[in-house]
Amino acid sequence: MQEIHCAIITIGDELLIGQTIDTNSAWMARQLNDIGILVKRRVAVGDHKASILRALDEEKQYAEVILITGGLGPTADDITKPLLCDYFGGQLVQNDQVMEMVKAHFTRRNRPMPDSNLLQAMVPNVCEVLYNEFGTAPGMLFREGKKIFVSMPGVPLEMQYIMKTYVLPLLQKNFDTPNIIHRTLITSGEGESAVSARLNHFESTLPDAIKLAYLPSLNMVKLRLTGIDIANKTVDDCFHQLKETLSDIIVADEDIEFEEAIGKLLIAEGKTVSTAESCTGGLFASRICSVSGASNYFKGGIVSYSEWSKIKHLNVAAQTIKDFTAVSQQTAEEMAIHCREKFETDFAVAITGYIEKGDHENEVWIALSSAKKTIAKKIIVPYERKKNAELASNTAFNLLRVFILEHHA
Ligand code: AMP
Ligand code: MG
Repeated sequence: MQEIHCAIITIGDELLIGQTIDTNSAWMARQLNDIGILVKRRVAVGDHKASILRALDEEKQYAEVILITGGLGPTADDITKPLLCDYFGGQLVQNDQVMEMVKAHFTRRNRPMPDSNLLQAMVPNVCEVLYNEFGTAPGMLFREGKKIFVSMPGVPLEMQYIMKTYVLPLLQKNFDTPNIIHRTLITSGEGESAVSARLNHFESTLPDAIKLAYLPSLNMVKLRLTGIDIANKTVDDCFHQLKETLSDIIVADEDIEFEEAIGKLLIAEGKTVSTAESCTGGLFASRICSVSGASNYFKGGIVSYSEWSKIKHLNVAAQTIKDFTAVSQQTAEEMAIHCREKFETDFAVAITGYIEKGDHENEVWIALSSAKKTIAKKIIVPYERKKNAELASNTAFNLLRVFILEHHA
């Protein structure tokens, strides 16, 4: 068994002009990290022969495993395959299995196959072919002494398939990877520094082999405990302590999205919810519906983007809007109350606000209603439109979480 240093080379002009964000490296690094392999360096190069060759020469100086994505399309701009074939001293030969897979790919889609795709079945005779179920470009594994080079398509789904099917199992089998345990806690309602202040004592008592990482996002802080070559029980004990310390702000004790956590809570409580949205335009409802099984607790929602629709479809009193405006505690509360009544749900969430800079403050009102009570909270949203909508929906999720817990019998 051998210790392992890994490099990632991403290829494609689109990465260098900022047209495509290199999500492949991030995804690969996370997967590798999960099995205890640290990525030493990441390099992005264009579809340019000299740059690719230089990256290969440089990365193999220190890495035993070089993972490459991109440049494998059938079009002329993609040059990775013939280049690697030359680099490893091989020749391109036809691979019948790939040919069948490429043909089947087009048959399944009921589309004629452009001739250029025949090239996809030509593979270097010095590589192991990594068959690609999701696209026409196969992955390729080359060996040079003890070093492994894997070339994969740039399309994220195809790369992910090849990583999961071939690369990760191979690395685990061939290299001495440490035992890594991750535990994730998701919190909301307090900022990173406030959470960190509460964890001063906890952090000072952590064993050296356990690290705590803060991953803040919009009204949410993820805390990840990572144990390296340490007993499960020790990590579990630390995680338990972490949960106790932050018990009032925990959304989930696993790495899931807010909407999934709320779904679990609603199912556990046997309650239903409906939504009335203005400035978020249905984002909140859409996130609820992105979770499998949402029909068990989500009965529906209304996107009332205009004053007219707030009055006509949510029965907000015209006088309320006149007296207090459409972005106000009163309007938000009326939206929530009537939404709950219309959809006959246990809870309703209403969101109305200004999420873009204008003459007014960027404020959003979020109201929650149940048969027992109706409350509303104002938040200030400081970012651009899309991010503000996300922040508003995250905050609505957290307020709903707290509201549901308050109603816990
Ligand atoms: P290619 O293998 O060069 O044909 O890549 C096809 C597509 O995959 C490109 O058009 C990009 O949209 C996408 N892609 C390539 N490299 C990356 C990357 N590093 N991260 C995310 N997407 C990528
Ligand atoms: Mg390309």
